[in-house]
Amino acid sequence: MDNPQEDRVTWCPSGEAHRPESVVLGVRSGENGHVVYLAEPVPAAQVLPAIPEGIAPHRVLRFASHCVSGCANRVDDACGLIERIQTLPSPGTTAAVPRCHLRPHCKWWNQAGVDACHRCPAITTLNSPDDELAVLVADPSTTTEQLRDWIAAAE
Ligand code: SF4
Repeated sequence: MDNPQEDRVTWCPSGEAHRPESVVLGVRSGENGHVVYLAEPVPAAQVLPAIPEGIAPHRVLRFASHCVSGCANRVDDACGLIERIQTLPSPGTTAAVPRCHLRPHCKWWNQAGVDACHRCPAITTLNSPDDELAVLVADPSTTTEQLRDWIAAAE
């Protein structure tokens, strides 16, 4: 991301693994599978061949790729995914935000600031179909009202 044109591009922190620009954002190796962020971006194309066959790349890694206008999560210029994630109960942490190489270009940081960064390590791009709430959050057709209703009913 050293050239001026690239500096103006916004990046998705829950991105695609196989786009030409895709980089590894972090490794899902922390506590509870939380993401541990890489100090520097590593091209996804360098890493993907090392992932054993049968293991989905998103199970073990988080990727960043360009935030594109055709994304199903786009709501006008905003990211509907981070809006839905912010509907979930706050992690309630006062800890510092994770060190993250993507921050200057990150769509979620630009849109939601510190709150996005506190929620970000727990986000998985690939959710278990058994995790009904996670599947709802990931579904672009889910409204924040539906999420609030689901959470209220579960309490
Ligand atoms: S939301 Fe924060 S921690 Fe997550 S990728 Fe963006 S800048 Fe990094």
